[in-house]
Amino acid sequence: MPEKLRPVGGQDYPRTFQEFRAWFPDDRSCREYLGRLRWPDGFSCPVCGCGGFWRTGRGLWMCTECGLKTSATAGTIFHRSHTPLSTWFAAIWFVTSQKNGVSAQGLADALGFGSYETAWAWLHKLRRAMVRPDRELLTGTVELDQSFLGGRSKGRPGGASNKAPITIAVERHDRGRLGRVRLELAAKSGGLDMIDFAGEVITPGATICTDGAQMFTRLRDKGYDHQATVGLQATDLDAVMPGPHLVSSLLKRWTAGTLHYRVSTQHLPYYLDEFTFRFNRRNSKARGLLFYRLLQQAVNTDPHPLKDLIGG
Ligand SMILES: [Zn+2]
Repeated sequence: MPEKLRPVGGQDYPRTFQEFRAWFPDDRSCREYLGRLRWPDGFSCPVCGCGGFWRTGRGLWMCTECGLKTSATAGTIFHRSHTPLSTWFAAIWFVTSQKNGVSAQGLADALGFGSYETAWAWLHKLRRAMVRPDRELLTGTVELDQSFLGGRSKGRPGGASNKAPITIAVERHDRGRLGRVRLELAAKSGGLDMIDFAGEVITPGATICTDGAQMFTRLRDKGYDHQATVGLQATDLDAVMPGPHLVSSLLKRWTAGTLHYRVSTQHLPYYLDEFTFRFNRRNSKARGLLFYRLLQQAVNTDPHPLKDLIGG
């Protein structure tokens, strides 16, 4: 879907819970909405590419050329789900309408699920939809640094051992305002994967600020303008490069407050995706727009059976 066509509240997405309930009273209305998000420019057959279709009695799209029947949910995270679409929609509304999201227990309680595991699996499916694979690269001035997350070490000797190194890249605009963020769980602290990560998420030609460690000179070879702050010598690096520090404290607060530290390193990348989704939309006053974006990305995300999720 072209990003420039900005969706309109009340037309493209529900603005309030009342509108949400009125728009999606049953599975049929949910399915039609998904069809609209999936084929914004009109139906196109996944096999032959033909645009002609009939609608079947069961709400499928049937290609007039090859006869293939397609559902709006085929090949999406809703594929083969036995749960009514209206329940999925309620979960997505619940997850996006709260600024900090919900824990698996919170979702289980809100939707009356019997099991924590079901809610957990749903949240993980949604997290996989939160970051578009084709997302835009960071531009302008970007601060690049690492921080540690997790592992309340409970006084264990060498307590940092169960903390995960997170690479943080965040755009810095005028007057210190921050733009979009990208996060990655690093293999080890201060490793060269920080350079690879920068190459994946930052536009060539952008200015990258780092603490000035030797390895960052490689950024220049990759076509970036590298600005080493005096970080390594500075007594207070957070003052020199405040963006990553702020992102890191928000991330810590979020995992502690919303998730109650129930984050395993294995699944940490998906929590980072959710944090990124929320952070990059933190100034959006229209919560319904987040609902729309997440659904839009969900119909463009591959299905993830539970066994894949547990396997990481
Ligand atoms: Zn066809």
